[in-house]
Amino acid sequence: MKFKVPRGTSDVVFEKAEKKQLVEDTAITMFERFGYRPIITPTFEHTELFQRGIGENTDIVQKEMYTFKDKGGRSLTLRPEGTAPVVRAYLENGLASRSLPVKLYYCGQMFRYERPQAGRYREFWQLGVEAIGTKDAFIDAEVILLLVRIFEEMGIKDLELHLNSMGCPGCRKSFSEALRKYLADKIEHLCEDCQKRARMNPLRVFDCKVRGCQSAIKDAPLISNFWCEDCCNHFETVKGLLNDMGVSYILNPALVRGFDYYTKTTFEVRTESLGAQNALGGGGRYDGLVEEFGGQSTQAIGFAIGTERVIMAMEILNENFSAGSKIDVFVASIGEARKNGFKILDSLRKMGISADMDYAERSLKGQMKLSDKLKASHVMILGPDELKRGNCLIRDMKSGEQTEIKLTDISLWAKNCFKK
Ligand code: AMP
Repeated sequence: MKFKVPRGTSDVVFEKAEKKQLVEDTAITMFERFGYRPIITPTFEHTELFQRGIGENTDIVQKEMYTFKDKGGRSLTLRPEGTAPVVRAYLENGLASRSLPVKLYYCGQMFRYERPQAGRYREFWQLGVEAIGTKDAFIDAEVILLLVRIFEEMGIKDLELHLNSMGCPGCRKSFSEALRKYLADKIEHLCEDCQKRARMNPLRVFDCKVRGCQSAIKDAPLISNFWCEDCCNHFETVKGLLNDMGVSYILNPALVRGFDYYTKTTFEVRTESLGAQNALGGGGRYDGLVEEFGGQSTQAIGFAIGTERVIMAMEILNENFSAGSKIDVFVASIGEARKNGFKILDSLRKMGISADMDYAERSLKGQMKLSDKLKASHVMILGPDELKRGNCLIRDMKSGEQTEIKLTDISLWAKNCFKK
């Protein structure tokens, strides 16, 4: 019986796994540089958390959640996104008593029952941040700047930053009413789902990919015409700060994103190079979510980056993006000398030097080939003649230079060579 991974999931091995690690390390270094601290939440939560948080009428809650009953009869859901769990954790762990804003970052798998295609999977990884506990427009600018700087650091160029404001619940109410009226006239042009959405949650018609629905909303009213003074001022400040930082953006009043919790500033980074699934990451403010989960009125903002899409973009856009393990020293030995080699290996590793040896009884020639494949920078050869002299041979794989040193001088050599 042969098994395959479930549809929409994949194994991440060798170079792919190393590339993923590189992307995560770069993002996490940047998160920490901007003052964000790690948070880890469970992979599954109570289903209601997402129903309440993301919104009953969103595609995610309606169609895409992996929901199951556990043996105790509880309804649980594999997390489809990271914000609702982080807000739950913020409240449950009393983080509101810390200095605000609480700045957190996460890295983990998300699960959505979507139709898989390049860049869209059922299990995928996200890297995200949440800054909870401030309405200051400077934090909006910081979060967007962080997203932009991460992609700069990764060498991904030619990006588009789309920017919008979803307004506050006040602006949203008048906007939704206008949209509902507009859609009522177009109802027969909408798909079955959107006919429902037009009544229940008209904003979600913007998420629909059906061509008929897209053209039906072409002349729909825009949220920008419904912003109140406070929302206008907030957005002006955010834009001004981004201008000051030299960050260019595209104002996109149709950017509504797929979650109900967004308020005010929303943003998304896209790249044409990825085709249909062109969003690398995005986010926005969610000033009502903490209260929705039973906390005090608390403003917050965050974003999530799709790790797989970033890897794809880097493969296309950054010619220096390569991964692959390298080791410092390959210790080559045969026969009885393998025992000496095994000891040397341990002492090198204790010094913080990456080292490996042959475990398949290859000839010395075969071991030289292997060391090449492992991209060893140096090979230490424990040949019988050298060992008789109490020595070993060291080959610098880059220059091809060979030197014979005393076995007792190995740590001195290693210290000088690798400066560790
Ligand atoms: P969202 O949580 O929907 O705002 O998505 C944030 C980012 O996660 C997107 O910009 C994508 O890069 C990535 N993403 C979302 N859904 C998927 C998916 N099904 N497969 C792979 N990446 C995804």
